Amino acid sequence: MSILNKFIKNNFQKPYILVCSSKTHMMYAKDILDKNIVSNELIPTPKGFGEICTTAIKFDFKDKKEIENLIKKSKIEYKGIYSLDNRYRYDLSSVLEMNISDDMKKIINKVQNNEDISKKDVLYLLNRETEEEYNALITTADIIRKECVGDRIELRAAVEFSNYCIKNCNYCGLRKDSKQHRYRMSEEEILEEVDYLYKIGIKTVILQSGEDPFYTTDKLLNIIKSIKEKYRMGITLSVGERTEKEYRLFSEAGVNNYLLKIETYSKRLFDYIHPDDDLDTRVQHTTWIKEAGMRVGSGGMIGLPTQTLEEIADVILFQRDFGVHMIGFGPFLPAKGTPYENYSKSDLKLNLKVVAITRIICQNVFIPATTAIASLNSLGQTLALEAGANTIMLISTPKALRENYGIYSNKNMVDLDFAIQSTLDSKRKLPKYLNYSYIEELGYKIDNSIK
Ligand code: SF4
Repeated sequence: MSILNKFIKNNFQKPYILVCSSKTHMMYAKDILDKNIVSNELIPTPKGFGEICTTAIKFDFKDKKEIENLIKKSKIEYKGIYSLDNRYRYDLSSVLEMNISDDMKKIINKVQNNEDISKKDVLYLLNRETEEEYNALITTADIIRKECVGDRIELRAAVEFSNYCIKNCNYCGLRKDSKQHRYRMSEEEILEEVDYLYKIGIKTVILQSGEDPFYTTDKLLNIIKSIKEKYRMGITLSVGERTEKEYRLFSEAGVNNYLLKIETYSKRLFDYIHPDDDLDTRVQHTTWIKEAGMRVGSGGMIGLPTQTLEEIADVILFQRDFGVHMIGFGPFLPAKGTPYENYSKSDLKLNLKVVAITRIICQNVFIPATTAIASLNSLGQTLALEAGANTIMLISTPKALRENYGIYSNKNMVDLDFAIQSTLDSKRKLPKYLNYSYIEELGYKIDNSIK
């Protein structure tokens, strides 16, 4: 059976969730339920039932008794078992009072009543063009964002440690056949960057590269171990497709998140943009990442050559139905020297609608205001934060190398100054955990209102 069919959401008639006390207990509980053939799936814990970006186990009411017995017998520690009928309710009355069509009101009502919105609804929202309806969409996303993740942005930093890649994705400036100057960073060089991030107070480092087999499992595990021992920081790994065994080893070594974008959920488009990859395989890898106990980072590209609005609706819905924790949608931007170099860049408004719809339907998750949207338009990051995004990713690759990590051309090297400005412009706050005195010693000026 195709993984795409296998993956289709369980149709739970009366959905419930089990929220465990820790990731270890959650993984153990999942294992026990699978062994006892009790239908279940991992989802981001919905608002009101646990912390953001944690994982809950979803199941059907008919299995509740059996699950209670199993977890009692196995001494699994858990916080609670909850009916999804009692989900947090967002007050969207201010949006319903806006000058919008009855059809749009119906969709907003569905969101308010915690009903799943359909592909037809997503398409309807993607097609909103009048100023009032566009504003209503952004306002809905902003209300949900505020309730779920508050006003403080989450600041993460990427060390792009190698731009070698064995693959030839048609849109990507790092593809094997591109004439890009190549570099690899040593473990010492990576740790030097991590040391700087630790000092400014960043809590999660993203280790990102092309698909580069030079970094063997052992090499990566050594780097992960060093970061964990010395800095105890959260780690997001973004190194492309690896094996199921490697995902388990990374998770056991302390990797918290794994970023592997699905890019599109259309088989036609996936094949068109990825000559070396296959959508079923990508879904399988995403499943392995989740089953290894890491939080799943996914998302995709908007405005790809030949991409239709229906395909955009499908990739947004995939994030919800798969239960993705961190969803990065970025615009297509042409990269010089690639087969797509002469295609037009993506449309800003379409990208902002996608960010807003993603927040509306996925709710209690992290959504970055991507570097790509900041590259599409200098106000892109601020506008994405206003449309439901809550995360900014700093580029923390050494200055001498970062120009060579050109997945697309004219990349905006989002640095601390840029992130501070976007936070100020969107009337949000920086995270509390930053080391403000150290940052100011470095010469950065931070307005007290955003600390
Ligand atoms: S998108 Fe990733 S896998 Fe594809 S060519 Fe670029 S770096 Fe390599």
